[in-house]
Amino acid sequence: MTDKRVNLLGLPRPQLEEWILERGGKPFRARQLFHWLYRRGVTQFDEMTDLAKAFRDQLNAEAHVSLPQIVTRQNATDGTIKWMLRADDTQAFEMVYIPDGMRSTLCISSQVGCAMDCTFCSTAQQGFNRNLTAAEIVGQVFLAQQELGFQAGDNRLISNVVLMGMGEPLANFRNVVPALRVLLDEIGFDFSRRRLTLSTSGLVPQMYKLAEETNVALAVSLHAPDDELRSQLVPINRLHPIAELLQACWHYIDEQNGRSVTFEYVMLDGVNDSPAQARALARLLKGHPAKVNLIPFNPFPGTQYRRSRPEAISAFLDQVLKGGVMATVRRTRGDDIDAACGQLVGRVIDRTTARLGAKRIPIALEPLSGSLP
Ligand code: SAH
Repeated sequence: MTDKRVNLLGLPRPQLEEWILERGGKPFRARQLFHWLYRRGVTQFDEMTDLAKAFRDQLNAEAHVSLPQIVTRQNATDGTIKWMLRADDTQAFEMVYIPDGMRSTLCISSQVGCAMDCTFCSTAQQGFNRNLTAAEIVGQVFLAQQELGFQAGDNRLISNVVLMGMGEPLANFRNVVPALRVLLDEIGFDFSRRRLTLSTSGLVPQMYKLAEETNVALAVSLHAPDDELRSQLVPINRLHPIAELLQACWHYIDEQNGRSVTFEYVMLDGVNDSPAQARALARLLKGHPAKVNLIPFNPFPGTQYRRSRPEAISAFLDQVLKGGVMATVRRTRGDDIDAACGQLVGRVIDRTTARLGAKRIPIALEPLSGSLP
């Protein structure tokens, strides 16, 4: 039997207030619940001692607070931790914790698998199974804090959250946006908007919509300086080419009064790593609020690509910087446990029918109409 009760982790505070009101309760109870959940890490209603007994009974009957279940946990030699989390009996997704001095980043997933089909990403090879719910997205952060030894009042175990795990977050807009609201809420996780980053392969219409809904930091997987190459690497480019994508980026920054967009650029040997391509990249971005993050390619079984040589990466970096664009190289972390960028595979049984070899088209893009929960 499926559980009809609502998992409260998926509800931003205004929606929780509404939910309580509909049941004849007082809206301020939402503040109390948020406090118990996100400040104290309490998930059992019976332990929430300042809630009236009748209200707790009602909560027990109609709601629950459930975290994703851990299938496996792996610790890398560099302190990176990867968890495989259960989506259902056969499906799993992954989450990675990356400590780095004062900074500690949690990389979370938004979907089980991915339908974007980027040729250099191992998640793409798995196919797409389903969207994660808002509660499963928030639940990853909640669970990671617990695993890291969360104590009440101490919500700084994780300094940054990046939606860079499995999946395309903007293809799961209706669950990702409410989850971001809970993460940003001052009595939720209280992350500042600059410490929450959403990374997209470039779903342009959803980027405009995102600008209306939230103001988190934006990262965009660019990976090539021209449409011909980008369309090969990131198939969504055939639908939304680079010029359109960049317009959407600058619009986002204008609307959000943001600092800059981070452009991710995976370094593939002999494919996109020449000095001429670096100069072309700099020409595209110069004068705009942009920085480039070069990601050395992380190999996976069956891939045709190789990581660019270190000299090629530093020469590329030099050319981008000389071209007047800020750039850095992402340090590879957790690769001994396959926890690095593009190595998250979980356990996915492809449920889509649109994977037609060369004709594959990105699917599972939910329609943009309709209101958010
Ligand atoms: N779907 C979103 C979120 C994934 S983020 C997006 O495309 O942005 C993960 C980042 O790692 C993306 O920039 C992605 O392009 C990059 N990546 C994917 N596979 C990789 C690999 N094998 N090696 C290095 N980076 C990879």
